[in-house]
Amino acid sequence: MPLQRQVGEATIIALPDGEGPFFEPRTKAFPTATPDDWRRADETDPASVTAGGDWLLRFRCFAIRLGDRTVVVDAGIGPADSPAAAWAPVPGRLPASLAEVGIDPAEVDTVVLTHLHTDHIGWAMRDGGAFFPNARYLMQQAEIAAIKEHGAPAGPYAIEPLLAAGQLDAIDGEHRLAPGLRVIHTPGHTPGHQSVLLEDGGETVLVTGDLLVHAVQLVTPETAYTHEMDPEVARTTRVAVLRDARAKGATLAVSHLGDPFVTL
Ligand SMILES: [Zn+2]
Repeated sequence: MPLQRQVGEATIIALPDGEGPFFEPRTKAFPTATPDDWRRADETDPASVTAGGDWLLRFRCFAIRLGDRTVVVDAGIGPADSPAAAWAPVPGRLPASLAEVGIDPAEVDTVVLTHLHTDHIGWAMRDGGAFFPNARYLMQQAEIAAIKEHGAPAGPYAIEPLLAAGQLDAIDGEHRLAPGLRVIHTPGHTPGHQSVLLEDGGETVLVTGDLLVHAVQLVTPETAYTHEMDPEVARTTRVAVLRDARAKGATLAVSHLGDPFVTL
């Protein structure tokens, strides 16, 4: 069964979509990481390094159930013909992961896309329509603008069909979903990157998206990742958000690490 955590009245459930090796050596993906950073990262997250020293990457989404609300955060690598097929181990298995925990895509009321890289939008759509037929899809305005500017695959794959279906909500900065549940803007990895903060009864879970993508950025938050659109902003955001999360003793719900939940 997929792992889950209880936070007050809410339940957060990890939804595996896939796993596979990264397409380039990890020392190239994180060029400033020192041997000591790698040693501490591998101690923290031993499941993410192969015997040969390669980065083994998970792709996962999360569901949050709170009262009558069902919120999904991120949409994974997607089916065999999704845009992530260029580099990720498609097809993903999100539909099976949802079924295992008894979530019907039709009951999902909100889909928060942390950002619009291809490994986070795969199951946003299927066969040209919304995979979650009754959901509002939340994206930052800054993300939509950046995707249009760069002509990225998310434009025709997700933004345009969701707009046509009337299911896209462009938000600007922080956005409250329910009491104790909000979206926060965490830019840098992409301009409109966002994370989801769940707080109840002194407990905090932060669904990070790609605020960090590897444990090397947990042990040394200053560590840059080559595929960040603005490395300086990404570093500033990551250092500040992780410092705040650590001060609260928060649990991180992470996209790409070996375990879905990391308690600081
Ligand atoms: Zn990612």
